[in-house]
Amino acid sequence: MTPLERALRDRIRTEGAITVEAYMEACNAYYYAARDPFGSAGDFTTAPEISQMFAEMIGAALADCWQRAGRPKNLLYVELGPGRGTLTKDALRVLRQTGLDPQIHFVESSPILRDAQCELLESEDIDWHESLVTLPPGPPLLLVANEFFDALPVRQFVGGIERRVVVAGGGLAFDRDGDIVEDSPSRDACASEIGAQLDVRGGVALIIDYGHAKSASGDTLQSVRKHELSPPLANPGEQDLTAHVDFEALAKSASVGSVRATKLVSQGKWLKRLGIEARAEALANANPNKSDEVYLALARLTDAKQMGELFKVIAIRSPDWPAPAGFE
Ligand code: SAH
Repeated sequence: MTPLERALRDRIRTEGAITVEAYMEACNAYYYAARDPFGSAGDFTTAPEISQMFAEMIGAALADCWQRAGRPKNLLYVELGPGRGTLTKDALRVLRQTGLDPQIHFVESSPILRDAQCELLESEDIDWHESLVTLPPGPPLLLVANEFFDALPVRQFVGGIERRVVVAGGGLAFDRDGDIVEDSPSRDACASEIGAQLDVRGGVALIIDYGHAKSASGDTLQSVRKHELSPPLANPGEQDLTAHVDFEALAKSASVGSVRATKLVSQGKWLKRLGIEARAEALANANPNKSDEVYLALARLTDAKQMGELFKVIAIRSPDWPAPAGFE
């Protein structure tokens, strides 16, 4: 039994059954606080860890948007859940090539990942936050969140009754099964905060995650351990727990004042529209011995059977900022 499972069983014995939302929140807080989960030795690999090309496209999209917004001088580059800091590192390189030099602000709850970010970005001046509300007031935002929203907890309902986790048959179990409907107050609150910030100070946010374009019913809670799916109630705190992002709900919550979301585009289509294939060719030509690696990474990021279709991209922007490229 994992240490967190022991703690959860004690909690359930004293408090009674806990909601799926409370379970997911406790598991992920424990999970991320204690480890760097990325890469082949870890539990899962994210797009920026597959290839620098992913973050370079994000950097290029943000830089182009900033140029078309009239190159405002002061800007905050904000990332939600920056992981190892790899996306920031590769995106900043592109941003700086165009003359943009933003202040860097991270929203990150994990002490271990804050240390990893500090180490990878040692020459950078970074401010860390628990949420967006402590950002310094004023400058517009360039905000990025890759695979952040999927880690925020969801509620599940069966026939209108909230689903809970109980202790039964010697382990943890769900108190009911059936047709499941999910929602997520934490995601809604985070998307509304992004919208509220953009409404006051202007700017643009790029949100990339796996999920669906329209709100729909279904159980999407899933867990991954050592690159394999694992039952969500197994090994609490020792495996990543996620649920698909409902982009319709996210766009609605982010539409604060006159802030609006763009259309949702699949990751594969978006990266191709931004020119990832030309970038792959240039990288492969410059490093012929790495050519196979570059094209494999391109396929992983863009092929419909790999990350290309399941992962999606949406932008949120204030009315005085143009929509980033790739959403037309
Ligand atoms: N964006 C990174 C990492 C994705 S994993 C990448 O693409 O590689 C999820 C990230 O969100 C981790 O950095 C994790 O520590 C952070 N995180 C998860 N829940 C959080 C929360 N409630 N508040 C702040 N950060 C959180």
